Amino acid sequence: MLRSHTCGELRAEHVGQEVTLVGWIDTIRDHGGLRFIDLRDRYGRTQVTLSPETIDAAELKSLRSEQVLQVTGQIESRPDGMKNPRLATGDIELVATVVEMLGDCPALPFDFSGGDLVNEELRFQYRFLDMRRPEVQRRFQLRSDLQHELRNFLHQQNFIDLETPMLTKSTPEGARDFLVPSRLNPSQLYALPQSPQIFKQLFMVAGFDRYMQIVRCFRDEDLRADRQPEFTQLDLEMACVEEDDVIEVIEGLMAHVVKSLTGQEVETPFLRISYDDALLRYSSDAPDLRSDLEIFDLSDLAADLGFKVFSGAVEAGGAVRGMRVPGAGLWPRKQIEALEAIVKNQGAGGLAWMKSTENGLAGPVARFCDGDAGSRLVERSGLQVGDLCCFVADRSKRVVINSLSFLRKELAQKLGHIKPDVLKFCWVTEFPLFDEDETSGNPVPCHHPFTAPHPDDLDQLESSPLKVRARAYDLVLNGFEVGGGSIRIHQRDLQERVFEAIGLSQDEAKSKFSFLLDALKYGAPPHGGIALGIDRLVMILAGDESIREVIAFPKTQRGTCQLTGAPTHVSDAQLKEVGLKVADTPEAVSTPVEGEEGDRR
Ligand code: ASP
Repeated sequence: MLRSHTCGELRAEHVGQEVTLVGWIDTIRDHGGLRFIDLRDRYGRTQVTLSPETIDAAELKSLRSEQVLQVTGQIESRPDGMKNPRLATGDIELVATVVEMLGDCPALPFDFSGGDLVNEELRFQYRFLDMRRPEVQRRFQLRSDLQHELRNFLHQQNFIDLETPMLTKSTPEGARDFLVPSRLNPSQLYALPQSPQIFKQLFMVAGFDRYMQIVRCFRDEDLRADRQPEFTQLDLEMACVEEDDVIEVIEGLMAHVVKSLTGQEVETPFLRISYDDALLRYSSDAPDLRSDLEIFDLSDLAADLGFKVFSGAVEAGGAVRGMRVPGAGLWPRKQIEALEAIVKNQGAGGLAWMKSTENGLAGPVARFCDGDAGSRLVERSGLQVGDLCCFVADRSKRVVINSLSFLRKELAQKLGHIKPDVLKFCWVTEFPLFDEDETSGNPVPCHHPFTAPHPDDLDQLESSPLKVRARAYDLVLNGFEVGGGSIRIHQRDLQERVFEAIGLSQDEAKSKFSFLLDALKYGAPPHGGIALGIDRLVMILAGDESIREVIAFPKTQRGTCQLTGAPTHVSDAQLKEVGLKVADTPEAVSTPVEGEEGDRR
């Protein structure tokens, strides 16, 4: 090794020893003819003293931040008053006798001391510099520790770590595939896996009853702050299980990793909320339970309240919902009215409100509350003196839900409910099996087509598919969907019925999934599993707001890599080899917008 110690390990007990350190120059200071530098590596910082008596003056002059230096010398105790109790190595300094520059460095493209505030584009273009910063290194240490703990825990529970192919056939999870041409089979293409879903089910048929893998997945879709085109999942599958068994393993796993990484105790079992309940009470299928703000429906009262805006919305097939905001009745009128912009942004016509004061109800909705329906509304809201109640009415239920979702988030922030170091897990269950395709009206799987329907709803699979519930569950942490899974279909005939319900003909089903259909007839045990989004978990545990911060070399929102410039054009010769032609002026796809509902990428 070119060093005897790291920059983070020398202490008072090393005084008198000769050592050699290698590190980057963090800071340089001049003091009464002496030069002090802080030498930095992954493990910490050590102060080095350079005296003109031992080190050549020209060499001293040429030192600059971020050069890589090898320094040999003697460890000495820092004089009293010069010790730095905030630094682990703050009792000592290295008095240099030999200095060698191992790697020069020109002026830097951005100021390191600017921390996270520096231009993100520049940071990711020079990610290798950005990652030298201790706060960035801590994120990646956390990421590594998380993966280590996940594996440890699962290996102790008999899970076997198995790999699945990257060059494969489409594995649908509701996104577009990334395609890869094959030179040996010109004009034929592989798809990169959207998940190892089908392969892990085949492992169950093969008898590997507990499988796990930390695996990269690829989904070609519009990006958001919490999505990347390639992302990492902890994927697992278990045979001979029902929902409770998978849930129990994951709760134990989460409690274990949170305890090991943050020291926090996580209470288990986690709260379980049905999908319908989550949408009603929290206006989200990934509720942030750090806030106890809750929404209630008053559509049934609308006709009797005598308020046209409310009754009109319900008559048109929409809804009216409200949210009690404790204490906000005392806010100045302007502050209450400013909330309207949030719901208007989501397409709502406006925000209705009333408050409860010492002298009774006040605000625009108060005058509709005299009668019986009004008393029932006040009772339902739980309104108390000092509280505010906000209402959104719209002919579209979606608009009501989205508006209240954003409003709830904003108010939770304003009321100080969103504490970054609090971790609130919950499960969302009883998802519908299918959604309605907006254009064709056909059922499309909410999750993927291998999810088992709820046994009580099986008879509706053909007659009312949209009413069928799925045996699916999502893991939610602080308002982010960090995982999702289900009990799978393990009977061939049921799998065929589900393919048919989503409009796949028997021939199509065979050509796409014959290997799965085959496997299901050769002794497939009941099975189920889940996948957790590692990037999101690390993001939340590190207190970051974007998954780009916890991915070493992430993509931009346009799916490009600032460091390498990928994707790029390739030579005509390369294209010819794989039998491809590309359009001369490919049209750029429109840039995405921030969306509401999350997923686990
Ligand atoms: N394959 C699913 C996904 O990636 C997870 C699962 O159902 O286990 O979303």
